[in-house]
Amino acid sequence: MSTTKKISVSQKITQLKNTFVDKLPQQLISINELWEQLRNEPDTVELIKQLHLITHNLKGTGRTFGFSAFGDAVAQCEELCNIRLSHTAEPDFDWPRQFEVSLKVLEQKVNALKSITEKTTAKSIVSHSTNEPKAPSLPLNEHGCLIYICEDDPIMLDQLITQLSCFSYQVIGFTEIDKLKNAIVEHRPNALIMDINFPEGKNLGTDFVRQLRQEITYQLPVLFLSSRGDFDARIAAVLAGGVGYFTKPASIQELIASLDNLTNQEEVEPYRILVMDDEPTIADYHSVILQEAGMLTICVNDPKNILQVLKDFRPDLVLMDMYMPTCSGCDLAILIRQIKDFTALPIIYLSSETDKKKQVSAMRVGAEGFMTKPVAASELVAAVEIRAERMRSLRSLMVTDSLTGLFNHTTTTQLLKTAMLHSQRNKTSLCFVMIDLDHFKNVNDSYGHPAGDQVLIAIARSMKKRFRGSDVVGRYGGEEFALVLQDITTDKALDIVTELREKFAQLLFNENQTSFSCTFSAGIAICTQDDTLETLRNAADQALYVAKDRGRNQVAIASETLL
Ligand code: GH3
Ligand code: MG
Ligand code: MG
Repeated sequence: MSTTKKISVSQKITQLKNTFVDKLPQQLISINELWEQLRNEPDTVELIKQLHLITHNLKGTGRTFGFSAFGDAVAQCEELCNIRLSHTAEPDFDWPRQFEVSLKVLEQKVNALKSITEKTTAKSIVSHSTNEPKAPSLPLNEHGCLIYICEDDPIMLDQLITQLSCFSYQVIGFTEIDKLKNAIVEHRPNALIMDINFPEGKNLGTDFVRQLRQEITYQLPVLFLSSRGDFDARIAAVLAGGVGYFTKPASIQELIASLDNLTNQEEVEPYRILVMDDEPTIADYHSVILQEAGMLTICVNDPKNILQVLKDFRPDLVLMDMYMPTCSGCDLAILIRQIKDFTALPIIYLSSETDKKKQVSAMRVGAEGFMTKPVAASELVAAVEIRAERMRSLRSLMVTDSLTGLFNHTTTTQLLKTAMLHSQRNKTSLCFVMIDLDHFKNVNDSYGHPAGDQVLIAIARSMKKRFRGSDVVGRYGGEEFALVLQDITTDKALDIVTELREKFAQLLFNENQTSFSCTFSAGIAICTQDDTLETLRNAADQALYVAKDRGRNQVAIASETLL
């Protein structure tokens, strides 16, 4: 579903409500036609079922849109169909007379609804024509996030800038508070790292930030940096609204973790939700609510189309209606569960079915939840988010390595295979890069295994930041990493991996008051038409071996090794 001009959610929902009300007279005609047929053939179960379906759906949609009087009237018709179908009627149950009375009430409610919505639409045209205020946006720059650091010691400042820049932050340093102030006024940073002690004053850093907060209108995340770890300094930082406190020498890895958290550098892919409902208006309505919460949605109205959409759209969750003409939501859930790829796909029923027994039997299929229409927007968003998030984390446990968060060996190999097929079929270039940390055993031996882990986390972080989109970054083994770079020449790959190598070599790690650095070697191989997984991997491995042999901390290309 796409809209060319940006309209607000309430406008979209008003449009959907109007469409629903516009179609009501036609729905009434259908109900009346079925009713006429039933009068001629009073015991045709199929006709009663159709009548039940149409009234049941109208009840759910009507109540979802907040038309409660209409919802109650149509619920009465549905209930009569239920009684008729279940043969639980009292002996004096006069179904034709009662249904006709209920139908009359329903007609009145439809007329009332039409006249009310006509009036409110006229009003809402005026109120919706005003523009919505825009939220102030953060500056975006090609380097990602902009960080200001204020630190009076120029050597320490220089070190911090170098280190943070290795993690794709654009960093600007200041030794004087006045200059920092001017810069903040001129260009808003995404975060500020602020020293506390300055030669001019013991708590100058925190005092400055407190003052600054009175002058700026936005929330600026501030991390404080100090040689002091005493209570007074820490509480001054908290009172100045600091969201982090680091004692010098600050661990770059911890600083980066905080910055990543604050600036939300890790782009979270929006959840993908498939909304299955035979009633287009209600599918659109729920879809609009989910889209507004930042999710990607696709609506399916005909159950027959669901297989193709599942395959193409790859949803994180399915929102499923219960009553549909071709098959029930339960049947469709069973069908989905029988396909290997979708066995674990979360399904939430969204239905106006209030019968607990029917809800329980629907859940038996293995659905994750049952929500009764009408459901509040916030409730729907929360229910969907929680389950989609769980699905994502379960999936990621299977495909990623727990220490670094990179793709694990199996997934990397799988993705490499797919990328090779694509490249060979479409004659696009593909580079496979093997990276291995140099003398990593020494790092563990000298500084301990946890320090070694920090190095692995840091290199993974640098690679994740550098490569995005279609590139694959994986942890291939202990201290070995693999990159699958698509649509790239070997020269370009060499440039990128060299840049990565140089930046990584500059990183300083701290352990027990000593600092150390680490390097890596890499081998690059370009995929040819004849390559198999084995030959491509061997080529990269051989190039890596050459890089090690030539003295480490360097990158070699496979073709060179063949010369
Ligand atoms: P080279 O330059 O020749 O690659 O030397 P190296 O020491 O890096 O190579 P070697 O294969 O001898 O040692 C790899 C080391 O990596 C040994 C192993 O303990 C360490 N390692 C593997 N996985 C992990 C891990 O998850 N955490 C830590 N801290 N160390 C690991
Ligand atoms: Mg190794
Ligand atoms: Mg190694």
